[in-house]
Amino acid sequence: MSTSRITKRVGVFGGTFDPIHVGHLAVASAVQKELGLDQVLFVVTSDQWLRETPPVASAGDRLCMVEIAVSDKPGFSASDIDIKREGSTYTFDTLNDLRDELGESSEMFLIVGADSAMSMDRWKNGDRIPELASIVAVGRPGQDFQIDVLGESHPASSAEYLGGPMIDISATHVRGLLSDKRSVSDVVPGSVVDFIEKQGLYI
Ligand code: ATP
Repeated sequence: MSTSRITKRVGVFGGTFDPIHVGHLAVASAVQKELGLDQVLFVVTSDQWLRETPPVASAGDRLCMVEIAVSDKPGFSASDIDIKREGSTYTFDTLNDLRDELGESSEMFLIVGADSAMSMDRWKNGDRIPELASIVAVGRPGQDFQIDVLGESHPASSAEYLGGPMIDISATHVRGLLSDKRSVSDVVPGSVVDFIEKQGLYI
C-alpha cells in the first residue's frame, strides 16, 4: 500500500468487553498517544470461538457499555461490525470488513493484549493478518510476551510491542466483584456501573 494515500491511522481494538473496564481504556489511550492514532475503534465481538465459555452479557448490552464508556473520549468509538456479521468472530473477517468500510486511505493497527497476541497462531488466517493491519501488542500484568521465542511464522512475531499502562484488571475479575456485590467503581467507568446496575447484569 502506498503510504502517500494514507490520511487516517485507525486502531482496531477487538474484545468481548464483558464488561469494558479501565484496563481496556488505558491500553487504548496509551496506544492512541504512542502511535498518534486518529481513531480507536472498540470492536465488540459476537462470539469468540477461542473462549471456553460464552460471554455473560448479551452482545447488545456489551455494545451499549462500550458506547457509554467511550462517549466522552475523543477519537474513541464503538463498532458493531462483528455483531452484525453474527456467528463466530474471527479477526481476519473483522479487518476485511473494516477495510471495506474505512477505505484504502486508512491504515489499520490491530491492538492486542499480550495474552491475545500469544494466541494469534491459532487464529483463523492468522498468518494473513499482518497483510491487513500492523499488530501492536500491549503488555499485560502476569502475561509474558516473548517476541524472541515466537517462530517467524507466528503472526505476532511482526508485532510492535508497547509496555503500556500495565493495569492488573480483567473482565473476569470485574464479573466476580459484581456477583459478590462488591464495588467496581475503581475499575469500571461510573456511567457503565450505572448501566450494569440498571440492567441487573452480572448478579
Ligand atoms: P475476560 O477476563 O472476560 O477474558 P478481558 O479482561 O481479558 O476479559 P477482553 O474483552 O477479553 O477482556 O479483552 C479484549 C482485549 O483487551 C484483549 O486483546 C486483551 O488481551 C486486552 N486486555 C484486556 N485487559 C487488559 C489489561 N488489563 N491489560 C492489557 N490488555 C488487556
